[in-house]
Amino acid sequence: MRVLSGIQPTGRPHWGNFFGAIRQYIDLQEENDGFYFIADLHALTTVRDPARLRGYVIDAALDLLALGLDPAKATMFVQSHVPEVSELNWILLSGAPMGLLERCHAYKEKKAKGLVADAGLFTYPVLMSADILAYDSQIVPVGEDQVQHIEVCRDLAGRFNHSFGETFVLPKAKTLENGAKVPGTDGQKMSKSYDNTLPLFCDDKLDTVKKISKQIMRITTDSRAMEDAKDPEGDHLYDLYRLFASDAEVEAMAAMYRRGGFGYGEVKKAIAEASEAYFGPAREKRADLEKNLDYVHEALRAGAERARTVAAEVLSRAQTACGLR
Ligand code: ATP
Ligand code: MG
Repeated sequence: MRVLSGIQPTGRPHWGNFFGAIRQYIDLQEENDGFYFIADLHALTTVRDPARLRGYVIDAALDLLALGLDPAKATMFVQSHVPEVSELNWILLSGAPMGLLERCHAYKEKKAKGLVADAGLFTYPVLMSADILAYDSQIVPVGEDQVQHIEVCRDLAGRFNHSFGETFVLPKAKTLENGAKVPGTDGQKMSKSYDNTLPLFCDDKLDTVKKISKQIMRITTDSRAMEDAKDPEGDHLYDLYRLFASDAEVEAMAAMYRRGGFGYGEVKKAIAEASEAYFGPAREKRADLEKNLDYVHEALRAGAERARTVAAEVLSRAQTACGLR
């Protein structure tokens, strides 16, 4: 199966990115043809500083490799290194109903939060569709927030196929039960744009554990008294703990919630310890990779070359179908 997904270089990747998406990339690379890209064109709507954007792109590649993405098994590349996608974007923009895009909640939410919306953000689901369709992708592993965009992609692909004959493969979203919507430090969806993230890596490796524990301690909680029992369902600390713990540990935590007589500080400490044990090895690996940037650049170059071969074929198919050739 052709599997495709992307991550935006808009800041350091966080627990939501890992448990919602990146963890799936790593699993799916084993038995599938995985295409994973760093969405720098998408990031342009947020990051308006060239040095920072370049830095985030390399950081994202380092992060993916450190977490277990293997360029020998999967194709890792940078979105803008495949210009065919931008051409396909135009083809799909023409014929994309305004109403369809107006209904997209990622745009609506960002706008509601007061983030400046530009035309790039508004048409983001179309570029995302071009990303998916350019590689004949069948499966798109994502967090829950992207499911609607994949429906948009199916809609646009279906419309095109209907007008011009079978051209595009219709993809399916793949989400996980646990981790599809990881809460941030404020209990809302964790997101780089909402400044509520728990990062996987920090700039200074020595500081990472300390910094992340501090952020964990700052996670908002309700004002429940220590002796009171509490329903674990829907509690974001409990949800965060569940990401790391075994079934037995989760059961024990749920029982503690229902019994009461505990403080949220204990749960936070358990999260800090579990996350440190979980991500520790990837942090070590990242430090090694940072000393070998040539390897990273070469992986991205080879990945783009492979990706372009596929995208050129699909673009040409689409151009012929709609009369551009
Ligand atoms: P931005 O705020 O810039 O959109 P983001 O934090 O939403 O950044 P993206 O790069 O847009 O991260 O998303 C990369 C992948 O991570 C997507 O598949 C997305 O669905 C997934 N993802 C993002 N946030 C979460 C979350 N809180 N829980 C689960 N999955 C998530
Ligand atoms: Mg996002």
